[in-house]
Amino acid sequence: MPQYQCKDCSFSGKRFKQGRCPACGSANIASGTAKEEDKPRGPLGLLICSALWIYLAFAIWQRYTG
Ligand SMILES: [Zn+2]
Repeated sequence: MPQYQCKDCSFSGKRFKQGRCPACGSANIASGTAKEEDKPRGPLGLLICSALWIYLAFAIWQRYTG
């Protein structure tokens, strides 16, 4: 369930119309609780990144030796 919070007046609600805070009219809004659960690819991204670096090192090594 998405929960949004205004960064200016800390008003929180389920839905902000047109991306603006209904209390103060600010567009400075953060989606509070849903953001941290929406990152399941933390370790996977690291794995892909390290695999890319290993591939790059291997390609360079092959170029100098082969
Ligand atoms: Zn506000």
